[in-house]
This record gives sequence, structure tokens and C-alpha cells, in this order.
Amino acid sequence: MQVGQTKQNPKPKKINLRTPDVMEAVQAEVLTHYRSELVDHIRANGNQVTVDGLTIRLAKEFGFCYGVERAIDLAYAARKVFKDKPLYLIGEIIHNPEVNHQIKAMGIQVICGKESDVDADIERLQEGDIVIIPAFGAEVSVMDRIKAKGCQFVDTTCGDVMSVWKRVRQYARDQYTSIIHGKAWHEETKATSSRATSQGNGHYLVVFDLDETAVVCDYIRNGGDREAFLEKFKGAYSKGFDPDEHLKLVGVANQTTMLRGETEEVQNRLKKAMVDRYGEDELAKHFRSFDTICGATQDRQDALRVLLKDKMDLLLVVGGYNSSNTSHLAEMGEASLPTFFIKNASKLKSAGIIQHYNQHTKDEIETSDWWPEGDLTVGITAGASCPNNLIEDVIRRVVELKSIPIEKFYQKLGIEEVETVKTA
Ligand code: SF4
Repeated sequence: MQVGQTKQNPKPKKINLRTPDVMEAVQAEVLTHYRSELVDHIRANGNQVTVDGLTIRLAKEFGFCYGVERAIDLAYAARKVFKDKPLYLIGEIIHNPEVNHQIKAMGIQVICGKESDVDADIERLQEGDIVIIPAFGAEVSVMDRIKAKGCQFVDTTCGDVMSVWKRVRQYARDQYTSIIHGKAWHEETKATSSRATSQGNGHYLVVFDLDETAVVCDYIRNGGDREAFLEKFKGAYSKGFDPDEHLKLVGVANQTTMLRGETEEVQNRLKKAMVDRYGEDELAKHFRSFDTICGATQDRQDALRVLLKDKMDLLLVVGGYNSSNTSHLAEMGEASLPTFFIKNASKLKSAGIIQHYNQHTKDEIETSDWWPEGDLTVGITAGASCPNNLIEDVIRRVVELKSIPIEKFYQKLGIEEVETVKTA
């Protein structure tokens, strides 16, 4: 935890939130809020369980990652240590509506949630107020303004996100434009791109997918219509970015939660474009790259790839609709079998209807006839910001839709104390 500097105290005063007694209380509370005994037992049972023709199959890795666990622990610890002080959080602690709801219920107030709120929210902060930085970090300009107000920080930014910042700052120091494979509107990518310009003269360009990468590659090779290029990437490049000037030396980085295969392809295509433009011998001078997909994202994608090799009737991907890593899990599933991206169990309306997120149209839609008759194998995975209690709710709902008493699953899994298991 870092407590940021105040006007009177330029050196950050360190307060250790993670003392043994605080963390013991935090762990107990976090377990109460987010743990699932049912999920733990299915995991211990080889990640699957079958009762009366219904098989539930879990990916080997899913749900809370180390970065999210740390962010939640720190937010809970801050609440315990700063009992009587107002606590503020920049945006969302992570991308899960239920967790964010819980954080608000603890009296932690959200600030700067929308761009239009930033000025007013920062204005009302007082010297000494405690501000929590979420797991995906915050933009340099927002941090600087909050520091100038004399606030203190509880910084939960994930170390893997900070590694990307380090890389992007180095590119800027060396006069390389950062090409960031990511979502220009996502908090993490906004925070990362702000590091490219924080030292004065750096530049960045965010590319979302392979189509946008192709446009950049074409410009690198052949030049083109500057104005049309700037219009196409509006909102995704630094102030003063000029494709004629700032695509000569490029360094590639990525949002930590992108799809691994796509990120590799973005890097390869840009590298090839630079070879075509400047020749193999000059490549090292013009092109740098660094894979910044985080380990947790990689593990969840790898585990789903393994799960998808099994025969399943459908896949449920559980997580917040604005969660980047969850959306990529859904994308992977869609390529293989009927896949439904849901934020919680309430979306399983009936065997006739499921409400789920279509990330391509950015709409929650309703699908009927999604529930196959007869024996059924349901795969389940979840993004890095989804707690196990929500997975349990989904499993319980699937079991209920199949009209199987949940107690049969308890028996099969050797759960004796049925009453200690959370209810949906
Ligand atoms: S998904 Fe990766 S980068 Fe994001 S908080 Fe988790 S470990 Fe950190």
C-alpha cells in the first residue's frame, strides 16, 4: 500500500495496511463474501461432477486472479484501518458489478466514474482524504490532480499492469511511439497510454483488432491519407500524433487481458510491415515489442482451451460485461460451441430463455431454445474478476433448471454440512 504525498509532506508517508491482525479480519470477511464451498468441492473432484445425466465441467483456472484478490484485500483493509474517514475509489475496483456493489455497501464512494464527473469529483476532495486506485490503475492526469489536493492513496494497481507502464515509459524515453493492442476506452489502456505521454514528448496509438492493425501496417508500408488515418483512430492516439512522423520508430505493448493469439498476430504483422518498409537489417532500430499479457489471463485462456477439447453441449462464461478478459473467454467459446456470456445466475431465466451479453453488438440479448433436452454437459468458466459465490449461484440454477435436487450433488461431492453451503 502506498500512501501518497501531501502538500506539507512531500515524501509519501508509508502506512502498512497489511498487518497480520487486519489481514486476518480481511481474509475472513472476503471469504464470507466471495467463497463457495460447492465450487471448492467440484475443483477437488477433478473440476467436474455428474448427477442424473447432468455434468458440470469447470475450467481448471477461472475466477479471481492474484491482482484482483490483492485489490479487494487492500480495499477491505483500508476500510478497517481508516474506520472513521471517508474513503473514495476511482471508478470501479474491478469489473464485476456484484463486487463493486459490495464495495459501495462498505461506504466506499466512487469518484471519477465518468469522464464528465472528474472535475467536480476531484474538486470536492479534501486534503488527507483517502483515495483507492483500482486494480487497472488510473490516468496520470487524474493521479496528479488528486495528489495536488493533498489526498492519500491506497494503490491497488496490479504489478502486471505496472510492468506495461514501465515498458511504455521506456519506449517514450527512447522516442518510440507505443502501439498498444487494447481497448482505447478501457481504464487500463487509458492508464497505460497516459504513461506514454507523461514524460513530455512521447506518443501512442491504440489498435483494437487485426483490422485496425492492417490499416496501421498499410500506412507504415505505403503512407496514405493522413487526415483519413487520424479520423479512423480518433480518440485512440496522443495529442500531436502524426502518422507520417510517429510510425517510424514503434514499440508494441498490450493491455494485459487481450487474447494471446491476437496479440501475437498484431506484433507479427507490425514487425513484418517494418521489415517491408525499412529492411531486415534496420528492423532492430525501428521496431520493439514486448508481450504484456498477464499470467492470470494466459492461465484462464489456456485452461479454457483444454476444456473446449471435451465434448460439451454449451458453455457459460460468467463475469461483468465490461470485463476485458471475460469477453475474450466468451470469444474463444463462441468459436467452438453455443456460448452464453452472463453476469450472474439471474440471467438463466428458464429452460426456454437465457439473457446474455452479445459483445459484438454490445447488447444484452435474449435467446430461446438454448437448453438441450436429455443428458447435458455444461462447461463453466469465469473472468478474473468473478467471485466463486457467483459461479456457485450459476451451478445451482443449472441444477434447478434440470429439476435435480441440489442435495444429490452434495452427496456426490461428499459435502456433509448442507446448511453451511451458501444459498443462491
Ligand atoms: S487480470 Fe492480470 S493484470 Fe488484471 S488484475 Fe488480474 S493479474 Fe493483474
